[in-house]
Amino acid sequence: MAPSDVITHDVIVVGAGLAGTWAAMSAMEAGVRDVGVLSKLHPLRSHSGAAQGGIAAALNNVRPVAGTGPRGPLEQIPPDAEPIDSWELHMFDTIKGSDWLGDQDAIEIMVKDAIDIVYAYEHMGCVFSRTPDGRIAQRRFGGHSTPRANYAADWTGHVLLHTIHEQALKHGVKFYSEWFALDLIVEDRVCKGVVAMNIQTGAIIPMRAKAVMFGTGGYGRAWKITSNATANTGDGVAIAYNAGIPLMDMEFVQFHPTGLYRHGILMSEACRGEGGYLLNKAGERFMERYAPDKMELAPRDLVSRSEQREIDEGRGVEEDGQGIYLDLRHLGRDKIMERLPQVRDIALKFVGVDIIDGLCPIQPTAHYSMGGIPANADGQVIADAEGTPVIGLYAAGECACISVHGANRLGTNSLLDASVFGRRAGYAIAEFVKGGAALQPVEGDPAAPAQRRIAHLMSDPPGGKGESWAALARALKETMTVNAGIFRDEARLKTALADIRALQERFERARVMDRSRRFNTDVLGAIETENLLIFSEVIAVSALERTESRGAHARTDYPKRDDENWLRHTLAHKTPDGPALSYKGVTIDWEKYPPQERKY
Ligand SMILES: Cc1cc2nc3c(=O)[nH]c(=O)nc-3n(C[C@H](O)[C@H](O)[C@H](O)COP(=O)(O)OP(=O)(O)OC[C@H]3O[C@@H](n4cnc5c(N)ncnc54)[C@H](O)[C@@H]3O)c2cc1C
Repeated sequence: MAPSDVITHDVIVVGAGLAGTWAAMSAMEAGVRDVGVLSKLHPLRSHSGAAQGGIAAALNNVRPVAGTGPRGPLEQIPPDAEPIDSWELHMFDTIKGSDWLGDQDAIEIMVKDAIDIVYAYEHMGCVFSRTPDGRIAQRRFGGHSTPRANYAADWTGHVLLHTIHEQALKHGVKFYSEWFALDLIVEDRVCKGVVAMNIQTGAIIPMRAKAVMFGTGGYGRAWKITSNATANTGDGVAIAYNAGIPLMDMEFVQFHPTGLYRHGILMSEACRGEGGYLLNKAGERFMERYAPDKMELAPRDLVSRSEQREIDEGRGVEEDGQGIYLDLRHLGRDKIMERLPQVRDIALKFVGVDIIDGLCPIQPTAHYSMGGIPANADGQVIADAEGTPVIGLYAAGECACISVHGANRLGTNSLLDASVFGRRAGYAIAEFVKGGAALQPVEGDPAAPAQRRIAHLMSDPPGGKGESWAALARALKETMTVNAGIFRDEARLKTALADIRALQERFERARVMDRSRRFNTDVLGAIETENLLIFSEVIAVSALERTESRGAHARTDYPKRDDENWLRHTLAHKTPDGPALSYKGVTIDWEKYPPQERKY
């Protein structure tokens, strides 16, 4: 390959959501001259922009009106009144939400930084909703004991992403829009760059850098019903795993309680934060039975399981009984139009229900990946349970596992996680680069493996007939939904694993019909499907081994949490025989936050 075909930067960031953009911007701000960001989508189409409900921080701007109970109206806190919130309370809620699997040192960093990062957004011009006296508006969210979701109507992610993208442009970050990362170049635990496709031309190009950062987002697309954008196919985790990086805690996948019935599109938790009810076929607010205290505002794992139980026991709604009703009618038109305009629009367009006067059918939807690429609180990727760093490789946001969410994430903690640890990774990268990091020599042609894979996909199929990757993807989503969904057990997980392995084998025979170079979405779809198959195997193996129920991982054959054996993180390494598991301790402050029973 001619040297001119190789692109070089000091730093390459893959992913232009909040995590990647914060990292790129902060690295430039801290003195790195040359940062390139790759995104397979236009940066502003990153899934961060779809986030609706809010970003958590204990700002102490609002409180419940005295005497109105845990679901009553909120009012702004008078300037001289006692604060009701603190980073310590935010920390406890996050640890409890994580079912004690979150690393408490990282959680402490996140909740302390939360206040600063929300004000950083405000100072950059982010258009938050406001209290009557002009402070940032806050609402309630599941699992948080005070109203600390800072929001911009139900467009929070959209306004945050636009704000930080503008800043990145201002700082001179170079964006490669519609470039698709295919491989990481890692040799002997040193990262040397990535290999990517320029989607517009089809050219496959090695990109060398002193440091690489992954902010490639989540992987809800492995399930049939999901809130995730079509791009959320976990490319980053699959690429890292292929390059010898372990994946951590992949068994923990969050199902959000309110995906639009049959579509999975998110009806933000803000619906319940603003006071929405969940009803079964008999019109009962069934959460009374499962979380009498927090009701609809219990954490997501608990609410989703409660819904699924109602559905499984025949109390679901709609003709197939697979739905639950979200009732927002009592909020009234004015509040809905002011606070939830986007979700009203979504329900109108997709199920023809106006939430102002109609019951909206919803169902649990695959939403968030707690697991991912293991990294420390500076975004430094680690290679094993001892914390050995992979030099020059960083990760943050949903593709990373730092681990602040443990076994279950609280709503609004993810925009926070992506922002806080994206920024920290950017600063750590700047220090690494300015400290004398050099471009590393690369052996051979790093683009060759990707070239070969694509040539194989475009070659003539054996016997004249290849497999359709789209059909394989559908089969995967089916088995993941039925066998590795909200409720799991040994038999179902074994079925999932056997199905995934059979699909991986069939993928060898997958071919594309479009053999052109420019904008070949057929090839990209095939590569994304291969990525889904790669990390789904890790999910199934990790879930099968974990013989307990914790957070979002609910085993009907092991219904109890088992701290004695399972208060530890899973690490999965790629081997020729499939994922090899090892385990890593959880960082716990045994005096302040020892494990307790998790009740709501
Ligand atoms: C509908 C919805 C609503 C949500 N609401 C909230 C909320 O209210 N509050 C909250 O805290 N969290 C919310 N979340 C979760 C939160 O939005 C995400 O976890 C977070 O935004 C992830 O940010 P990120 O930067 O890690 O990734 P993303 O924003 O997903 O960005 C990923 C980036 O990686 C790029 N990429 C991926 N693969 C490749 C590849 N192979 N090559 C090149 N580029 C690639 C993409 O183009 C994109 O730019 C919500 C999620 C969803 C789906």
